[in-house]
Amino acid sequence: MDEDMVDLAGFDSTAALHRGREIDVSDVFCEPLAMTSAYTFTSAQDAWERFSGQKEGNVYSRFTNPTVTALERRVAAMESAEDAVAFASGMGAFAGLCHAFLQQGNNIVCSRDVFGTTVNAFRNYMGRFGIESRFVDLTDLSQWDAAIDGNTRLVVMESPSNPTLKIGDIQAISRFAHAKGALLVVDNTMLTPVFQQPHTFGADLVIHSAGKYMDGQGRVLAGIVTGSTVMTRELRGVLRTLGISCSPFNAWLILKGLETLEVRMLRVQDSAIELSNWVSRQGCVRSVHYTGLTDHPQFALASRQQQGHGGLICFEVKGGQEAAWRWIDALLLVARCTNIGDTRSMVTHPATTTHCRLSEIERQMAGISDGMIRMSVGLESLKDLKKDLRQAFDVIERQYPSNSENHTHAESCQ
Ligand SMILES: *Cc1c(COP(=O)(O)O)cnc(C)c1O
Repeated sequence: MDEDMVDLAGFDSTAALHRGREIDVSDVFCEPLAMTSAYTFTSAQDAWERFSGQKEGNVYSRFTNPTVTALERRVAAMESAEDAVAFASGMGAFAGLCHAFLQQGNNIVCSRDVFGTTVNAFRNYMGRFGIESRFVDLTDLSQWDAAIDGNTRLVVMESPSNPTLKIGDIQAISRFAHAKGALLVVDNTMLTPVFQQPHTFGADLVIHSAGKYMDGQGRVLAGIVTGSTVMTRELRGVLRTLGISCSPFNAWLILKGLETLEVRMLRVQDSAIELSNWVSRQGCVRSVHYTGLTDHPQFALASRQQQGHGGLICFEVKGGQEAAWRWIDALLLVARCTNIGDTRSMVTHPATTTHCRLSEIERQMAGISDGMIRMSVGLESLKDLKKDLRQAFDVIERQYPSNSENHTHAESCQ
């Protein structure tokens, strides 16, 4: 093509690509968002040194990116860990863990009432690669001891469990794991490092679904794993090769979320303590699960292991699924939404949503009844939350009158 013809267009194509690329972000106060897939090298030698790992530096955003690195460093510091690796989602982080630490013939020992998809990932997906999963009762130490053997590589627990709010003894379970050379993984999504630091009780790896309380605004998905640099090197190798990477944009939003994590956690906890006590006094409520209730069967362990109790409460209404659905459908302010850790309060019916893929027997073993309702308490005023819950209780109270002293109806709930 004739070069003169390009000039005739009067448009500087090169300027549109290259002008203004030198941006100095050294004095910006809010962390800059590095939306980039690639990085420039000062020389061919520099590229070789970074690619081969002789020199620190970014190569490609599948495995490192400045904004994602900022998130990793911040979460590592908050969990008192040497390092962290971010992933595309919480389940992406679990997939990363499995690929980093397991091989054919190994087994996973996991508490029965972890996040439902975690059970599915281990049993139905890792199972295909010759990895056996053994599920045990979170609270029964003898079951952990019996299940962990010389082929166990990962011991996985979530405490408190969701939605039943049972507690596992991290220190005791870490001793069983370490005695057989296995790594203890603790899912700390629900309490966050504000209320629980599992590494200080012997956890080797701590995992978060970072789109929950860490972002705290229900906007993004991300996962993060903290641990020693020996372990994060393995995880980063998986990231580099299998590419379950965290978006810089998501990392940037979560960095902002982390700045308010402590005040949000304290606020939802205050409301959750008040609401769980109040809900337990309602006539149509059979039981309430919250580790902050002094009559929680493991309140002593909770007080030893946790600095707080978080914002998730769970209660069982009399009248089974029908009453639970009716109560949920009556809500006017609280959202019907299957998530946790948003600024806004939301409820879900675990038996027919998060845990619907479990068999009835498995649900029973995990303690998930048909009348159970899980609530992620948000930042609304307590007055408005109680008002909404009150009118929903009134709706089922009319349908299933209770004989509680708060109510005048003679007939008991089913
Ligand atoms: C949501 C959640 C996960 C899965 O995380 P995603 O980011 O949704 O993939 C894992 N563990 C717990 C406790 C969760 O709440």
